[in-house]
Amino acid sequence: MYAAYIGFGSNIGDRLVHIQNAIHALSKTEGITLQKISSIYTTDPVGYEAQAQFLNGVAAIQTSLSPLALLHTLKDIETAIGRKHRIRWGPREIDLDILIYGDLCVQTEKLVVPHPEIHLRGFVLVPLAEIAPDLVHPVFQVSIQTLLNRLEDSKSVLKEEDCVL
Ligand code: ADP
Ligand code: MG
Repeated sequence: MYAAYIGFGSNIGDRLVHIQNAIHALSKTEGITLQKISSIYTTDPVGYEAQAQFLNGVAAIQTSLSPLALLHTLKDIETAIGRKHRIRWGPREIDLDILIYGDLCVQTEKLVVPHPEIHLRGFVLVPLAEIAPDLVHPVFQVSIQTLLNRLEDSKSVLKEEDCVL
């Protein structure tokens, strides 16, 4: 079993329902056990900014799936929830990314782990630090809390007090 962290986000339609469905599908997947889910955060879009705000969060899982099998599972869940193909960094019903998978460092065309932008994104670091502040980033070899402390990202990341998963 490996400890992995999945980032999730949605900015189209009923965003909370999309996220709830994704978490439910993850919990039902053989080879995945949910360990912890962060709070939900309302966040400003990054990259392509002329789009609606996101709801974002992070789930900690234990998994016996290989990294590629996990990636395919996430893509299947995205499709099942109704993610359409749109522009890169554009609006999406649901986005599920592998942030960290054990101590693994891989860089292939299909999969880059740890996710290459963890340290640049408040919408990832804030929820990840909520559930795993002492987790050591396998590439930078410092804790998630340290990466968050060092973050220079002015985008808003606001905890939603009444979003229940
Ligand atoms: P993004 O999440 O970067 O906005 P997409 O969700 O459309 O974009 O994913 C594009 C591709 O990124 C996927 O088809 C997948 O093969 C690849 N990818 C590479 N590394 C990862 C990762 N760590 N988690 C999820 N997808 C990844
Ligand atoms: Mg993605």
